[in-house]
Amino acid sequence: MRRNVQRRKRRGLAFLAVCVVAIAVILFIRYENLTAEAPEETAANSQTSEQPSPAASDEPAVSDEPTDTPTDTPSDEPSDTPSDTPSEKPSDKPADTPADKPAIATAGEEDGYAVVAQPASIAVLVDKQYKLPDNYEPKDLVYPDVRFTFSEKIDKRKMRKEAAGALEDLFAGAEKDGIYLAGVSAYRSQATQKTLFNRYVKKDGLEKALTYSAFPGTSEHQTGLAIDVSGSDGKCAAEDCFGGTPEAEWLANHAPEYGFIIRYPEGKDAITGYKYEPWHIRYVGKELAKEIDEKDLTLEEYYNAVPVSK
Ligand SMILES: [Zn+2]
Repeated sequence: MRRNVQRRKRRGLAFLAVCVVAIAVILFIRYENLTAEAPEETAANSQTSEQPSPAASDEPAVSDEPTDTPTDTPSDEPSDTPSDTPSEKPSDKPADTPADKPAIATAGEEDGYAVVAQPASIAVLVDKQYKLPDNYEPKDLVYPDVRFTFSEKIDKRKMRKEAAGALEDLFAGAEKDGIYLAGVSAYRSQATQKTLFNRYVKKDGLEKALTYSAFPGTSEHQTGLAIDVSGSDGKCAAEDCFGGTPEAEWLANHAPEYGFIIRYPEGKDAITGYKYEPWHIRYVGKELAKEIDEKDLTLEEYYNAVPVSK
């Protein structure tokens, strides 16, 4: 009997031990599951919560770059290039042309002549190609205070103010050298030139008249910048015999000092369209007169406006 009781006790203890182990295993497994889940969750949370923040802080940096570069480059280049090129080119070209040769800029045609656009320019070119606008009249005509071969106060005594002052200086300069000059004919209106020209055409025919008289509108006398000059005695006034006189010599040598040129020099008739006229002086200003004299040019050659010979 004792042996049976002891066996039952042992079996009971063993069963208890198995139960304790089993419970301990179940508890351990459960605990492991709990601790294994927890790190995954926190890792997932920390990852998702961290990732958006660097991404958000990156985006502004990325959005800065595109806004800087596109606004800098396109705004600078288009505003620079279009504003530079059109503003420089048009301002240069009109400035070049009038500054270079304003006196031969033309404004249309008339009677086969180019009509000068700036007839009041001191350096205006008027010849057998370049004509003054119809009935042009200078606005500043005055009576120069010099000797004339006549005493009447009439149009042909007049010159433009600047030219008149220069003529007074020229006459005074000549007198210092013992040369006494006299004015023969200065300003001439287009109407007067027309009367003169028609008279010459009647007498000599159109072709010959054109060699010594200007077609109305093409006379330098109409500019108020030209004058025919003789000796004070009036001999050979506006005639070939004036050539070679001391007065003609003095004019050829000294007129440029006062801003005048011998407008129709000897041997240049193919260029000027006129035979030698040692008495016809033309005011162009001191600077231009000096250049034309030193380079032995005509006004046509100076302007590179030499007519093509037919
Ligand atoms: Zn003349």
